[in-house]
Amino acid sequence: SQPLSERILNMSTSATLAMAAKTRELRAEGKDIIGLSLGEPDFNTPHFIKGAAIQAINDDYNSYSPVDGYVELKEAVITKFKRDNDLTYTLPQVVVSTGAKQSLYNVAQVMLNKGDEVILPCPYWVSYSDIVKVAEGVPVEVQTSIENDFKMTASQLEAAITPKTKMLWFSSPCNPSGSIYSKEELEALAQVLKNHPNIYVVSDEIYEHINYTGKSHASMASVDGMFDRTITVNGVSKAFAMTGWRVGYIGAPDWIARACNKMQGQITSGTNCIAQRAVITALNADPSTVKYMIDEFKERRDLVLNLLEGIEGFQTNTPEGAFYVFPNISYFFGKTLRGKTINNANDFSLYLLEEALVATVTGDAFGNPNCIRISYAASQDQIKEAIKRIKEVLE
Ligand code: PLP
Repeated sequence: SQPLSERILNMSTSATLAMAAKTRELRAEGKDIIGLSLGEPDFNTPHFIKGAAIQAINDDYNSYSPVDGYVELKEAVITKFKRDNDLTYTLPQVVVSTGAKQSLYNVAQVMLNKGDEVILPCPYWVSYSDIVKVAEGVPVEVQTSIENDFKMTASQLEAAITPKTKMLWFSSPCNPSGSIYSKEELEALAQVLKNHPNIYVVSDEIYEHINYTGKSHASMASVDGMFDRTITVNGVSKAFAMTGWRVGYIGAPDWIARACNKMQGQITSGTNCIAQRAVITALNADPSTVKYMIDEFKERRDLVLNLLEGIEGFQTNTPEGAFYVFPNISYFFGKTLRGKTINNANDFSLYLLEEALVATVTGDAFGNPNCIRISYAASQDQIKEAIKRIKEVLE
């Protein structure tokens, strides 16, 4: 065996990235795979943002930036938090990182000691549990129900808390369920946390703008009593179709932000300077400039829900945001289709890949073994064709 660390041996491979690799492999063999597995908008980065990056190159932005980001970018983040979330952060409370993924990694590294428990309402974003584990924290999964729109209730939170609980991590809008916590629902959770002042919250709001409710986004840090114990995570990957640019950020109590800055200073330094300059322009723009993408996602959401209704055995909630549906497909467990026995969501997702040539992701990776995740960041024609194929192979 190879002498690798236990740390890496114990880590699971990102299921979404693994599915992407498998899709590429099958495509290289000439198979016509429709990819509904990726968490990536299928739009291009808007022109006004690209222009800012080109300008930055021509203006000779080529040196190391401050570790926690250019001041102008941190100011744009502060403007954004105020404008969109009514949150008042100051410069020492903001850290810009190489994607929200690194923001989350930093937070885990600076907040968790061995054995500290982190409550993860299921389904949760695929990387949370491994980011927590690599920091020697212990993920504590809380199963939610489709009847409650996959949201954790206050009593479920209360029941999950132990003397070892250090943090709660969640995303709203949620990847993978598309659920959105209302202000009232956040207040109910905050009410529980009031009695447990040593618990900190990661509120991952990266899908903030991809919201179909017509109501404004609710931030945990804006709930009474929560500002000083919440790390608000956000980024530009989803809202501005900038996944490859790798810029994310946090707003947090300054002692946490300072620690993240210290961690990042030894690991990656400041994120790519050209991307940072472009993000200044993105964040200073009014969110309505990217509304055309949200409108299109909403149409696709309705289309997917409509089409899935026509397939027996799919049970879904109505996602209110992000670009995923997370159907419960446990109806198929124990059944044999085309000579293949489906025992779990892994088998089901693999069956769809091999027989329907449609890539999805098993719910296992998100802490819910009865579901699969279907991304609708694909054209309406692709969606129609994919669901037609899925229907055919399940008949
Ligand atoms: N948080 C959630 C809920 C996500 O879905 C993603 C990306 O898929 C991230 C964070 C990471 O985003 P970034 O591209 O900024 O690293």
